[in-house]
Amino acid sequence: MKKIIFLIPFSLLIFSCNKNIEKKENSNLLSIAEKTDSTNIKTIFNSALTEGKSYEWLRDLTKNVGGRLSGSPEAQKAVEWGEKLMKEVGLDSVWLQPVMVPHWVRGEKEVATYTTNGNQKNVPICALGFSVATPNSGVLAKVIEVKSLEEAKALGNKMEGKIVFFNRPFDDTLINTFRAYGGCVDQRVRGAAICGEFGAKGVIVRSMTNSIDDYPHTGTMSYGDLPIEKHIPTAAISSKAANILSDDLKVNPNLKFYFKQSCKTLPDAPSFNVVGEIKGEKTPENIFVVGGHLDSWDLGEGAHDDGTGIVQSLEVAYLFKKNNIKPKNTIRIVFFMNEENGTRGAKKYAELATLNKENHIGGLESDAGGHTPRGFSIDANSVNTELLQSWKKLLSPYGLHDLDKGGSGADISPLKGENVTLVGYRPDSQRYFDYHHTSRDTFDKVNKRELVLGSASMASIVYLMDKYLYSDSPVKL
Ligand SMILES: [Zn+2]
Repeated sequence: MKKIIFLIPFSLLIFSCNKNIEKKENSNLLSIAEKTDSTNIKTIFNSALTEGKSYEWLRDLTKNVGGRLSGSPEAQKAVEWGEKLMKEVGLDSVWLQPVMVPHWVRGEKEVATYTTNGNQKNVPICALGFSVATPNSGVLAKVIEVKSLEEAKALGNKMEGKIVFFNRPFDDTLINTFRAYGGCVDQRVRGAAICGEFGAKGVIVRSMTNSIDDYPHTGTMSYGDLPIEKHIPTAAISSKAANILSDDLKVNPNLKFYFKQSCKTLPDAPSFNVVGEIKGEKTPENIFVVGGHLDSWDLGEGAHDDGTGIVQSLEVAYLFKKNNIKPKNTIRIVFFMNEENGTRGAKKYAELATLNKENHIGGLESDAGGHTPRGFSIDANSVNTELLQSWKKLLSPYGLHDLDKGGSGADISPLKGENVTLVGYRPDSQRYFDYHHTSRDTFDKVNKRELVLGSASMASIVYLMDKYLYSDSPVKL
């Protein structure tokens, strides 16, 4: 018995040694003979999770540059930061693309208050981007609450001299919170243009969020064609304040709301898109763009919107270089300027691409926050949509299940064309509108693993698209 007991482990030891040698030889053979896509994708993920740089890059951008609204000194600092970092990553070429951008400034911190039943209530408020200021003494007026632009239009001249309060909340039953945002944001963008026409004194809007809290959410607005003398001040109030005001109006419909803001639009300012690329090995004339936007709103640090998209885009190039992946086509990383209030950077990029007769085969944009990866939305012709969807089995082990048709993003969509395959990175959206355009959009809200998993997801789809899109024999997997 003793002998047998001794022999078994010994033979197992020999067997396992042999097996290890065999395994090593096999894996060497495999890596020389055939690096499969799934192996390469696994390598990309391993590399991002153990050697990823995006989290530290994001810390630097959010803490040392901070909020960076177009035209501001911080936006210029972000341009210099981006150019330096692209060079450090070792892209083949890096350059700045000049573009004139709108220059709106918030001025002093806004104030809002009203009194009801003898109680004075201070309201968390922030001016909307492009809004005019109130008079120095502020605006004081009765409030009419509405739920939609149509309801406001129907009021007509009844709103003269009043403050119109848009209070349609997010539809909380929508799983994709971007759909809820899309269902409400017309109030913020067009409310003041409609109410200015009918002589309202001002417009306040419920913040764009699922959350009920004390943080006002800024964002862009437009007066459209309204003559300048009809421009009225407009601001967002927090969702919690919106609920309280709505309740108070039911009890006291004659209460007067006061707000004061000193924002203004200055002349356009010079700025830049930051561009860098890895030259393609086989068809360098074909360009695949990967990007996000460098500008952000001024209230927070521009972490989820869109610092995460910026650092993930650059990490795609970093992961390609680190793992010696040589793209067939040119991979161009673009930090777009002015997505938040004008998309001038995106328009300039597309204009120059046409002017220089560049051949863009596709693009990927990350501008939906830095949360856990869920997939990509595809804006492409039916053949390429099907091709991308056929990669689901390669991507789903990483939680990338969503490969539906849909929009890509504001910065790359001007490149749209029948043979241009555009893709939007889609992380989980449940918490995005807790932070979006608020003072809470800060570095501490970003999770390192979620962020780098996003970089790896993006690098993986770029790897597949570079390899199979428009090749002579696109392979469905
Ligand atoms: Zn954004």
